[in-house]
Amino acid sequence: MAEQPIPEIKFPLTFEKCPSCGSTRRIAGEMLKQEQAKGKLTDIKVTFLFRHQSLMANPSGRFISAPMIHSFYDTCVECGTVYCIVATVQAVMPGMPKMNNKDIGTQHMT
Ligand SMILES: [Zn+2]
Repeated sequence: MAEQPIPEIKFPLTFEKCPSCGSTRRIAGEMLKQEQAKGKLTDIKVTFLFRHQSLMANPSGRFISAPMIHSFYDTCVECGTVYCIVATVQAVMPGMPKMNNKDIGTQHMT
């Protein structure tokens, strides 16, 4: 049986609606809007409830670089579904100091 080519994922992946009900209202996104309406948190653009990082590494421990996946999750205000709002990938070098959030901070996710 011939091997099927693996479709490449184009990052960043963004999901702007709840996969269950289609609502665009998210808890962290709505909180940001409320705070901005009060004149607070004016320069924050990325909101999420939690982030998950996954590093793909060779078990041998020897690698030149490896993809680090950053997935950001929030919760639908309407139905409570937790879903990924954006996923990004970054090459990580061995011994590299901890990354900052500069790249993801430029995305507008309210
Ligand atoms: Zn929903």
